[in-house]
Amino acid sequence: MEKVVTRFAPSPTGNLHIGGARTALFSYLWAKKNKGKFILRIEDTDQDRYVESAENSIIKGLKWLGMDWDDGPYHQSERLDLYNAAAKKMVEEGNAYYCFCSQDRLKEMREKQVANKQAPKYDGLCKSLSPEEVEEKLKNKEKHVIRLKVPEQGSVEFHDEVRGDIKIDCKDIDDQVLVKSDGFPTYHLAVVVDDNDMGVNWVIRGEEWLPSVPKHVLIYKALGYELPNFAHLSLFINKGGGKLSKREGATSLLNYRDQGYLPEAVVNFISFLGWNPKDTREIFSMKELEQEFDLKNVNKANPIFDTDKLDYLNGLYIRNFSLDEFEKVALPFMERDIKSDLMADKGYVKSVLALEQERVKKLDEVGKYTKLFFTPDDQLRYDPELLVWKKSTPEEAKDNLEKIIEYFKTIDEQQWNRGDLEENTINWIKEQGLKNGDVLWPVRAALSGEKASPSPFELAEVLGKKRSLIRLEKAKSSLQKG
Ligand code: GLU
Repeated sequence: MEKVVTRFAPSPTGNLHIGGARTALFSYLWAKKNKGKFILRIEDTDQDRYVESAENSIIKGLKWLGMDWDDGPYHQSERLDLYNAAAKKMVEEGNAYYCFCSQDRLKEMREKQVANKQAPKYDGLCKSLSPEEVEEKLKNKEKHVIRLKVPEQGSVEFHDEVRGDIKIDCKDIDDQVLVKSDGFPTYHLAVVVDDNDMGVNWVIRGEEWLPSVPKHVLIYKALGYELPNFAHLSLFINKGGGKLSKREGATSLLNYRDQGYLPEAVVNFISFLGWNPKDTREIFSMKELEQEFDLKNVNKANPIFDTDKLDYLNGLYIRNFSLDEFEKVALPFMERDIKSDLMADKGYVKSVLALEQERVKKLDEVGKYTKLFFTPDDQLRYDPELLVWKKSTPEEAKDNLEKIIEYFKTIDEQQWNRGDLEENTINWIKEQGLKNGDVLWPVRAALSGEKASPSPFELAEVLGKKRSLIRLEKAKSSLQKG
């Protein structure tokens, strides 16, 4: 069997988005699955839309997700001779022609067609120029493009792995510009020449390119190239069935990294945007995907882009990390958000992280969840309302804090761990004839200073006895003042 060769061929017009990453991933996986080759090609022939930082964003994004290419990156701007030779051959063999129409004429033509409710299409005027007229105009350096000469009759047929057999009438195909007036090829010519030259036999890309395939097929035929296999992936929609907004994913892939999504989770999430393993499994590492991915299981329905699913997967991957792995990825986010001398106490930082690993869905929440552990004693401030359990009064809260402070003082360090603390404190509350909520709410609120936090015993263990008592005292006195 012929070796599978796929490619990812982004235009450097902006950042790599999730959509591009999905195209890249499916192309990469299909090559890996078939022990083939994956090529990266930068399609930079559109000078007007070129963005300098884009290539870097693309490369960084692919690497972040763990995709590497066997060949490339190639740059189309360095391969212009190839495209020019192909265009020349097409003209010589009557499959393409020079067109000297002015922008004004083309505009007028388009407007008329739109007014008559026709699809805009070049009317073929320059097809009828004689070779002498063409030569004369070229000699006079008249501005021109080269167009594909679409047969006036017949149809173009091709097969798409996702969409099945497709047939288009030639009369519905435009005489596509192949070489622009600046001498650069258009995407359509360059993509065909390159895919052929690089031996790409599986063209996998977004469905927005499907309408271009008939033109490409004509170019393949004109140049005597063998057709590749095509697979056009359906575009994402949001949960409401509409187009994606920026917040929903139409944003740079590296933003996901900066928000604290793990590349493993993003890869897993993206793999399901169009593909599924035909069973109930939902967790796949890149290695597993390389074995399991199959274009045959890619379906035509528009995949729903559900950020909740991504958050869920990300949380799952975080929880599956060892504490050391979690620390490695979480620390940069903590260091970004928490400025405190206590951050130097590595053992303390680790015990804080151990407590929060369960809760974190995105790493950029780590700072938010852990900052309570790093408030210096002299900066502790309490909102008295927060300290009072909804079924009790400020007086009761204050009394209960006072009592538990005295009780906690009697607990020795050996027993200052969440298990013993919980068991002993619950017994003590019972003995005192108090209610759990009336005591434990103010304790939890005093230790955390937050509405939501881990349990009072977990907090107490991590903060340690001394720091816990300082917090409880401070909280008590804030109630006194109130
Ligand atoms: N350069 C095109 C893009 O940016 C690639 C289309 C293709 O893969 O053929 O989307």
